[in-house]
Amino acid sequence: MRPKLIVGNWKMNGGLAANQLLLDEIKAGLGAVRCRAGVCVPHPYLAQVQLLLAGTPIALGAQDVSAQTAGAYTGEVSAPMLRDFGVRYCIAGHSERRQHHAESDEAVALKAKQALACGITPIVCVGETAAEREAGQTEAVIKRQLAAVIHENGHCISEIVVAYEPVWAIGTGNTATPEQAQTVHAVLRAQIKAATPHAERVSILYGGSMNAANAAELLAQPDVDGGLIGGAALKSADFLTILRAASR
Ligand code: PEP
Repeated sequence: MRPKLIVGNWKMNGGLAANQLLLDEIKAGLGAVRCRAGVCVPHPYLAQVQLLLAGTPIALGAQDVSAQTAGAYTGEVSAPMLRDFGVRYCIAGHSERRQHHAESDEAVALKAKQALACGITPIVCVGETAAEREAGQTEAVIKRQLAAVIHENGHCISEIVVAYEPVWAIGTGNTATPEQAQTVHAVLRAQIKAATPHAERVSILYGGSMNAANAAELLAQPDVDGGLIGGAALKSADFLTILRAASR
């Protein structure tokens, strides 16, 4: 059985003082938390948050990684650089990057490969838009996105985390129902099982307006192994409630 995994995605939020306050509050409330946990912070705050999380069970994460190892790629941050700061998780292919930075399935697969090569667990995001869901393309879209990562990473696929994040649910308050999430997670689980004999190692997170009120029901689904949390990860009380829901 996989222990549940809850990862906060701070997106482009935070600041030195705000980060310290948020993490101090979270650390103070961690008492009954037994699930795995992480926070994916903006790159400039990796050093600060690495220090703040030292000695806690919360792992450090990044929100993106370059598909290249080093060289003339202005503005990019490589996996070896992330490793220097003790990064444990790295989001790859968040829909905001696919949308605003035109990241292709192939680029996402290469980012996952870079992370894996440095011992960083990529959290590979897949998910359909509202139009794709309405057109009955949900399964085809998420399978295509994950297939690119499987194709590029072969047997290492057992070392990734997958996050199902329906684009229409991210930051909208339109959370997928537990049944909708479970249906897609089961499809992803079957695809991973067909790709590796070690599929049981792969956690599949749900992301998209998961919050303190709906987390328990989503996390109760058999194929929902945790959550990738945006807005609710910025409020200590909400994030702690989700961590506790994942610890039952
Ligand atoms: C996310 O950005 O990955 C996310 C799930 O955001 P939110 O929880 O705010 O919908």
